[in-house]
Amino acid sequence: RIFNFNPGPAALPLQVLKEVQQEFINFKGSGMSISEISHRSALFEDVLNDAIVRFKRLLKLSDNFKILFLQGGASSQFFMVPMNLLPEGSSADYINTGSWAKKAIKEAEILKKTCNVIASSEDKNYSYIPKKFSVNPSAAYLHFTSNNTIEGTQWAQFPDGGGVPLVSDMSSDMLCRSFDASPFGLIYAGAQKNLGPAGVTVVIIREDMLERASKDVPTMLRYSTHADKNSLYNTPPCLAIYIVQLVLKWIEESIGGLDAMERRNREKADLLYGYLDSTDFYRPTAEKDSRSLMNVTFRLPDEDLEKKFVAEAGKVGLGGLKGHRSVGGCRASIYNALGLDGVQSLVDFMKTFAQKNG
Ligand code: PLP
Repeated sequence: RIFNFNPGPAALPLQVLKEVQQEFINFKGSGMSISEISHRSALFEDVLNDAIVRFKRLLKLSDNFKILFLQGGASSQFFMVPMNLLPEGSSADYINTGSWAKKAIKEAEILKKTCNVIASSEDKNYSYIPKKFSVNPSAAYLHFTSNNTIEGTQWAQFPDGGGVPLVSDMSSDMLCRSFDASPFGLIYAGAQKNLGPAGVTVVIIREDMLERASKDVPTMLRYSTHADKNSLYNTPPCLAIYIVQLVLKWIEESIGGLDAMERRNREKADLLYGYLDSTDFYRPTAEKDSRSLMNVTFRLPDEDLEKKFVAEAGKVGLGGLKGHRSVGGCRASIYNALGLDGVQSLVDFMKTFAQKNG
């Protein structure tokens, strides 16, 4: 296996993959695969409920939060959030920190919802997280993207909504660190970075937010439909949820919880940024105080060298280092599953590459 720096779908813990492999054909002695059993069987409900319990425990969520497992990717949350939480006559605040934040704003606008973009970092290619903004006290929620996967920036401290419920797209940094969930009304994340395979989207919603949807929201697009039925209103992506459950178990039992996860992630990021800052050959693109612990974006002296870098890294088992096609450059995604050994190998390769090509 290679060291996998892909931005998503991304590396999964080897231990989890092995567990899936071992149980795949005959799940818990049932004589069936997890992909063959009924989603209404006790066997699957145990998986689902264990995933919920572990999620709540890891994030220290109070009892008034529900965990939902939905489909349609994080991209579907861009419209489900305003559809459900922004009834006629109300408005929401949005902070534009990158391509994904912009897409979330666009979907709210398509629905003809009133959304105020109260801050943006578009003026500097989204290389920083805005610090100055004021939240409208009457806003239904404040939406922000906690980690900007493409641009390599992350909120070091979440914005202060001043009592306005926070809504966050945490697709690319969910469970990379611990945080206080109490100011949040809703959090969503596509699974395919830190949580599991693509195909399931986790939504954490505070109970009082469930009742806000107006009557004309279709059944499948209402959060309350899925909350009322414990994510079993229709057939859920059982295999993906099972793998998420194993990843949560890995974080709790093998890593030792979110504080330990965060220490490990900071150690990895410090190693990589520390090296980037020590050389002129590579140029990190995000401002220092806005740097992501998950997606480390950087440039080389020119685009030809960037292509060569990605190709040569691939040949020595360091995969997925190409930057997003919309911004170019290079990006090392160092999500939860990637260990310090992967980052050390990358830094060693970068040093050699710089010596040869500098
Ligand atoms: N939001 C963020 C921050 C992302 O990084 C991504 C995907 O990379 C998405 C949303 C879109 O997720 P999905 O492909 O699950 O719709």
